[in-house]
Amino acid sequence: MAKDLKEIKDIEEIKELGWDELIPGAALFSFTEPVEDVAEVPMDERPYAPTNSHEWQVGDWRVEKPVYNRDLCIDCQFCWVFCPDMSILSRDKKMIGVIYEHCKGCGICVEVCPTNPKSLLMFPEHMENEKALEMWPKKEEKK
Ligand code: SF4
Ligand code: SF4
Repeated sequence: MAKDLKEIKDIEEIKELGWDELIPGAALFSFTEPVEDVAEVPMDERPYAPTNSHEWQVGDWRVEKPVYNRDLCIDCQFCWVFCPDMSILSRDKKMIGVIYEHCKGCGICVEVCPTNPKSLLMFPEHMENEKALEMWPKKEEKK
């Protein structure tokens, strides 16, 4: 019998459902209660619903990851604006880092980063971030 997702309070309940138990075309709500101005509520304080993708680890098939270099970043927020997956963590207009649980490794944040050298660069998924930071390129001279 089809299950109304509004009745589900725990994400583990969804994992137990069969394909024919979810209502076709069901609306998945972002939050368990109304949130007036979501941009003003810090990510870790939002009442995410169990059906919200925030609650799921969805970045585990990435082959390359963006690594963030705090020493070069000018906090312009371009990466935060352009990331299609809300995977850039920023607080009070300061870039904090990448949410690897959600990042898909598309590289858009690296493309839009304006610093020289860039403050975000793509590295193989298996490489330690500390190692990547040691390999960071030097500033490119103007031609
Ligand atoms: S690689 Fe893509 S998904 Fe990951 S943080 Fe950058 S823009 Fe977002
Ligand atoms: S785009 Fe680059 S410089 Fe701008 S906030 Fe992101 S990492 Fe920092």
